[in-house]
Amino acid sequence: MISTLKPLLILLFILYVVKCNSQTVANSSKPLAMINDTTFVNLKEYSQDFVYDMKYATEDNFLKAKVYDCAKCYLRYKTVKALILVNERLMKKGFKIKLFDCYRPLDIQKKMWAIVSNPIYVANPSNGSIHNRGGAVDITLVDLNGKELDMGTAFDYFGIEASHDYPNFSKEIKNNRKLLKKNMEKEHFNSFDSEWWHYNLKTGSKDSVSNFKWDCN
Ligand SMILES: [Zn+2]
Repeated sequence: MISTLKPLLILLFILYVVKCNSQTVANSSKPLAMINDTTFVNLKEYSQDFVYDMKYATEDNFLKAKVYDCAKCYLRYKTVKALILVNERLMKKGFKIKLFDCYRPLDIQKKMWAIVSNPIYVANPSNGSIHNRGGAVDITLVDLNGKELDMGTAFDYFGIEASHDYPNFSKEIKNNRKLLKKNMEKEHFNSFDSEWWHYNLKTGSKDSVSNFKWDCN
């Protein structure tokens, strides 16, 4: 009797160990305190309060080509934490951040540079941009119904009107840009003079350029 039960008991023991191990992995996959600031994470897994319009996952961009297989916003964890703080503050005032682009693999940067080889609008891939380092976002503001605030130009408009300093806009447009800039600067993002939509986390320039592609499944 014992000899026939023994293989069964061994099998049950193995199943128990495997189950315990798989639970340990699942439960410890995202303990917040254990995530390193420079780890790449998916913003959506940390906040549901953002609006997404990831332009490079569509053909509605200056490349006229869909260069991302799917629309996901990956960033270094420290960038995600700072962005969530900005969004929480803006939501109390009746606004939300809408995202156009986040981390961008280096290969995509090379494609963009081949089309627009002008460092005012596209970073040279030989240096790598802060987008390639997971510390930059292209964003605008929407109201709580999702309606975009008027920023004067569309995203990726390559002209002087996209500059923060462009003087010939209405007070409303200037105030909209200022609202975004002021709140981003509070959480240690730098603006970029020639693009009202682009923000860099100040410490993002220290991180290495990356070329990983996110999983679309
Ligand atoms: Zn940008």
